[in-house]
Amino acid sequence: MGVQQNLKFDALVLGGGIAGLEAALNLAEQDFSVAVVEKDASIGGKMIRLSKVFPTLDCSSCITTPKMAAAAHHPKVTLLTYCELQSLERRGDELVALITQKPRYVDLEKCIGCRQCEYQCPVLVPDAEQGGLAARKAIYIPFSNAIPQKALIDPENCILCGRCEKVCPTQAVDFFQKVEDFTLTAATAVIATGFEMMPLEDKVQYGQGQIPDVITALQMERLLAPHGPYNRVLRPYDGKEPDSVAFIQCAGSRDQSMGVPYCSRVCCMYAIKQAMLLSGSLPLADLTVYYLDIRAFGKGYEQFFQNAQAMGVNFVKGKVAYVEPGEGGAVRLRYESQEAEGGVQVVEHDLVVLSLGLLPGWTPGASCALSTGADNFIKTVKPKLAPALTELSGVFVAGAASGPKDIVDSIVEAGAAAMEACRYLAARGFKAAG
Ligand code: SF4
Ligand code: SF4
Repeated sequence: MGVQQNLKFDALVLGGGIAGLEAALNLAEQDFSVAVVEKDASIGGKMIRLSKVFPTLDCSSCITTPKMAAAAHHPKVTLLTYCELQSLERRGDELVALITQKPRYVDLEKCIGCRQCEYQCPVLVPDAEQGGLAARKAIYIPFSNAIPQKALIDPENCILCGRCEKVCPTQAVDFFQKVEDFTLTAATAVIATGFEMMPLEDKVQYGQGQIPDVITALQMERLLAPHGPYNRVLRPYDGKEPDSVAFIQCAGSRDQSMGVPYCSRVCCMYAIKQAMLLSGSLPLADLTVYYLDIRAFGKGYEQFFQNAQAMGVNFVKGKVAYVEPGEGGAVRLRYESQEAEGGVQVVEHDLVVLSLGLLPGWTPGASCALSTGADNFIKTVKPKLAPALTELSGVFVAGAASGPKDIVDSIVEAGAAAMEACRYLAARGFKAAG
């Protein structure tokens, strides 16, 4: 497997989530050519997988989809999906990136997104896009508004029955596709690699993913989303509507034992948002948030918190120490109350949502001339005066790549990173739109 052709752009944007798309569109509007390199098979990042956003409760995919479409249709933006960055280095005026194109086993040019292959594939596996709460086929289009609308095969689960190949009207299925490396050069880059949630399996005290009705906040996002696994909120254990739902805050954040001493910044607000949405979809359910302190620091966030209290969401100050299976699918919580009753309390809920900590979405390896801070997020060199600047000349950072951040701050930072990149290009003689 040799290194293929070199692609040349004015700017490279690493990550096709909301921050990456915002940065790419800002650069493209200034007439610079931009490559967006995304590790997943679709752009959209975490935001396209959310239900609604706080504090406005706007539909998340209604906001994200137009950005995705704008990037896909912009003549100055090239989307390179299902690609991993292997190395990034500066050579004189150029940044040189070595990128791996992972095989889809489907020819992108030929696939028309008709889904005939999906309908015929006999293999069902848990769909990670739906938090594992629904199934997908071994050949699949990631989700209904994925961009590009192209299929890919999951080689781990494909049984090579050949049905997809037979039914495909454009002969797009290609079982012999291979990993391909190529180089990409650009004068500047924006790193917008976002975040991942701490794996549920890492939290021994909270069941390590073995208790069916202990789910992650991202799974709850899918339960609340219009195109979610069940189109309503049901608990995984027995498919019943839960009568009581609990949220455990700081489940992995501000926790030295998990190696995450920092506050993940968004968990308080997304838990409040989810509780408010649940009060609409499960009006009779008891909704309880167990918290250490509520961090509602953004514009309109404190009012949002107060609105949730007024709507009847119960906020209990106390650290949940242990979660274990109860009777009939219930989940038992032991927590140390800091309310008037004090002491260790034991309660049961039908469904428990863990507000897990945020981890970096990507960590640069030794072959990338970037380093990380003590928190493992991308290190910035002037966090106060120029927060988008990294150690590598001409490389800027946006969104949660440099630390946990909400959507508003990610978009603002993406604009700042794009502006820094435009200035960098202009100073080197690249022409912006007049
Ligand atoms: Fe349709 Fe073929 Fe693409 Fe599947 S691979 S979506 S059958 S064009
Ligand atoms: Fe599904 Fe694989 Fe059979 Fe295609 S060859 S239909 S992907 S199991």
